Amino acid sequence: MTIIKRKHTKVIKVGNVCVGGDNPVSVQTMTNTNTEDAESTISQIKEIEKYRCDIVRVTVNTVQAAESLKAIIKNVNIPVIADIHFNHILALKSIEAGVSGLRINPGNIGDKIKVREVVRACKGNEIPIRIGVNSGSIEKGMLDKYNGDFSSAMVESALAHIAILENESFYNIKISLKSTDVLTTVKAYELLSSKVEYPLHVGITEAGTAFAGAIKSGIGIGILLYEGIGDTIRVSLSDNPVTEVIAGFHILRDLGLRKEGVELLSCPTCGRAEIDIVGLAKEAERKTASVRSNIKVAIMGCVVNGPGESMHADVGIAGGKGKSVLFSGGKIIGKYNNSEIMDALINEIENITGEKII
Ligand code: SF4
Repeated sequence: MTIIKRKHTKVIKVGNVCVGGDNPVSVQTMTNTNTEDAESTISQIKEIEKYRCDIVRVTVNTVQAAESLKAIIKNVNIPVIADIHFNHILALKSIEAGVSGLRINPGNIGDKIKVREVVRACKGNEIPIRIGVNSGSIEKGMLDKYNGDFSSAMVESALAHIAILENESFYNIKISLKSTDVLTTVKAYELLSSKVEYPLHVGITEAGTAFAGAIKSGIGIGILLYEGIGDTIRVSLSDNPVTEVIAGFHILRDLGLRKEGVELLSCPTCGRAEIDIVGLAKEAERKTASVRSNIKVAIMGCVVNGPGESMHADVGIAGGKGKSVLFSGGKIIGKYNNSEIMDALINEIENITGEKII
């Protein structure tokens, strides 16, 4: 099996999560609640925690949002990053509230004194700053300089933001360079990665819906991770943050970078199928999405390939007419009516993992 060799990057700490170096590539998402509404935001973060999310980012766009951070941070278990645009007061208030990281572009804060204030507060509290350059906000002059080459323009823009922080002797930095275009994003990260040692937050921005966006992100993030680039990822989808987290872990699992969670093998079905594979596979995927243990589950429609795949998986179903066979650890452990096979599968997954399926 191919093992991906990751590019060496500096290690930074986002709360209790180390990002960069040899640390596992972390998965992050962003809440879509109104941050001023602490209760809804806490409940959304608690939900994504169940799906193993490592880091969460929340919008801090008002003073009330910054003030609600205290309650949010107190009631959740994963590090919270404040997403701020332009306003250094919101950055200072977020740091005071106890965030584990800031996403703010120093070049957008304006005044040097304001940048210095934010840097001083970050240093005092050991809080990293993520510089996030998006293709949509690249200045026209910069784009003209590179004849419309977004990748080079984004890298130059990121380097300018980095220089502002380095001039203040601040190096607790991670960087993202996101475009909606996969190849533009890949090229930008490749270029930046050859120039800096800082850890990189990788993603494709505004990737789309759960289906198309997960494919787009899987390709873009997948190419970069395969090249050893990327220390933390976000799959950006027009969907629930839980879906983003699940998609992120799928990418990492499929590249062998995080060996945790369920790998679901299910057959594409054909005229031989004896059970409703599509329904069973979707149900199994939904029910097992929060499992932490590294297991392989096979859901196969008939006796042609069913027993073989199921035997090689940790748990598996081989569908049959009226009744289906359940495999565990390579052996048949029971035959169940097709209406009962899903419950039997879930029970067996709980048995072998020791985890309660939520
Ligand atoms: S396992 Fe059986 S039902 Fe599924 S695709 Fe293969 S032959 Fe068809």
